[in-house]
Amino acid sequence: MPDFECQVSQDVEQQATEVALLARDPARADALEAAAKQVLSGVHGRQREAAASRYKVSRYDIPVRLADESALLFNSRTRSLILLSDGEAQIYRELAKRSAFSSGQVNDRLLLEALVGGGHVVGAMVDELAVVRDSYEATRSAKGSLTLTIAPTMACNFACGYCFQGLNKPTTRMKPDVQNAIVEFVKAKKDLKSLNIVWYGGEPLMGKDSIFRLSDLLISYCDKHKISYSAGIVSNAWFLNGEMAAQLYSRRVRWVQVTVDGDRGTHDRMRPLTSGHGTFDRILDNIGEALDQTAISINARVNVGQSNVDNVNAMLDCFVERNFARRGNFSVYFAPIEASTPESGSAYEERLSRAEFNRKVLALEERARRLGFASIQAPSNGFAGMCVAASHGGYVVSGEGDVHKCWETAHDPSKRTGSIFEPDKLHGSVNASLWSQWTPFDSPVCASCKILPMCGGFCAHRFVYSSPAEAALPCPSWKWNTAEYIFSRAKDLGVVSAEKWLPEEATVEAKQSGERHSLDSLQAAQARVLEKVSALHGRNIDTAMLFAGESALEAAPSRAPAEGGQALESITP
Ligand code: SF4
Ligand code: SF4
Repeated sequence: MPDFECQVSQDVEQQATEVALLARDPARADALEAAAKQVLSGVHGRQREAAASRYKVSRYDIPVRLADESALLFNSRTRSLILLSDGEAQIYRELAKRSAFSSGQVNDRLLLEALVGGGHVVGAMVDELAVVRDSYEATRSAKGSLTLTIAPTMACNFACGYCFQGLNKPTTRMKPDVQNAIVEFVKAKKDLKSLNIVWYGGEPLMGKDSIFRLSDLLISYCDKHKISYSAGIVSNAWFLNGEMAAQLYSRRVRWVQVTVDGDRGTHDRMRPLTSGHGTFDRILDNIGEALDQTAISINARVNVGQSNVDNVNAMLDCFVERNFARRGNFSVYFAPIEASTPESGSAYEERLSRAEFNRKVLALEERARRLGFASIQAPSNGFAGMCVAASHGGYVVSGEGDVHKCWETAHDPSKRTGSIFEPDKLHGSVNASLWSQWTPFDSPVCASCKILPMCGGFCAHRFVYSSPAEAALPCPSWKWNTAEYIFSRAKDLGVVSAEKWLPEEATVEAKQSGERHSLDSLQAAQARVLEKVSALHGRNIDTAMLFAGESALEAAPSRAPAEGGQALESITP
């Protein structure tokens, strides 16, 4: 799927399920809201004695001032959100100015207990950055779980102008020997507890036979060995009629991500068939059938750019006309059109500035929520950037059997990290080291970011392959709309009313979560990766070799041992 921003997929399944459950179970929705309100009002409700020791305000606290001098306080490490009265907000601001304070210096004991309980205040000696780094590394190298993104074909029947593959896509399908090698690869994983599959392409349903055969083989193996199996698919939905959805659902495909780019006219112009014909009506017909005939969750991704931003509301109207919200398993999210690879074509002209996109997206998200196409604003559960590329237990397999770490390189054989036919060599290549050596903690911008615990760098590709002249920036919408999202969540939970919003808190200017990435910071991060990989492989690797790919990297000149710098270890999960 050429235009997919894959990092979002980790929350898609969770969000779709949440929307579905809430819609079907009002009692659960009420219980959830009551629980959330309890957390928010917990500032007055805790009776536990705070330990008499020294404290400091958490580096991951994000206060949002309100119009009446009260404040919301969100912590991105614990995800705690509380409401402070004007007096409490004043006390908190005074505490935040100090490097440390003792419990005796806080007269309001209940406030201190609530702040400690929500992780807004931590022990003075706690190194929270180290805690977050440990948590990131533990998640990254977790054993027992394997995520495979499988592209049964890179062929696609659509000709979207902004596709990262460009318009000349391959037409080959995955052969049985590649499918068999994937099964053997799974079987060779000892102590496997869960297998997660994402079907991807091209348009994966153009390789449906591979999906069906591989699903059957993998499911029967997992069932026999008590390994949990789950799957989702990223599809343009051209072939996703009710019967296809049922076939997929029976093979445990529980969610589908489909791209819709505005109303009929806009979508048909942006996402036509290769023949030039429009695709909007058939896609919406198929979505309706799939929702009617199966319990599959469908998440519509809307790519927003210059030419469709004003038509997105008309698209939401079409969803309303078709009553998609009533089914409870349909949701919508918005993503910026960005040029992620040199082949991204019209994306270079289409994209809005991130500031402009994030201004527009707030209103769109609000409307989508009102219409029942999105759940209330929520931070990600784990690190949003813990994608298949960042995780040591994740791989992307192309139809030819090339193994990659990242979806965005899967169309380019020179960026493969190995072959599914040589599983023992998957971690030894220079290309593999580019991913294993990247970490958001090497970037001062990420390391000082107040939402690092829920972001984790968001997209390694944007660091590793950033181009000096032109690069999509990694920081997600939460970074651009931090205060707005915190306020929106509190408002939807009924804790604050709309008129409490203070316009001066607009995040684009106020930057409550810290500096955002720039081309310079990405270049610095890329240089750090190349330095580490050069040291690890004993070579001098430069940016030109990075973009030239496998043969140039493997032929890079050796570096003298003295230049080797710090000892680095290869990752071999
Ligand atoms: S690094 Fe690759 S796989 Fe991960 S989010 Fe970015 S594009 Fe997707
Ligand atoms: S600086 Fe940007 S990419 Fe890095 S952790 Fe923060 S939001 Fe994520």
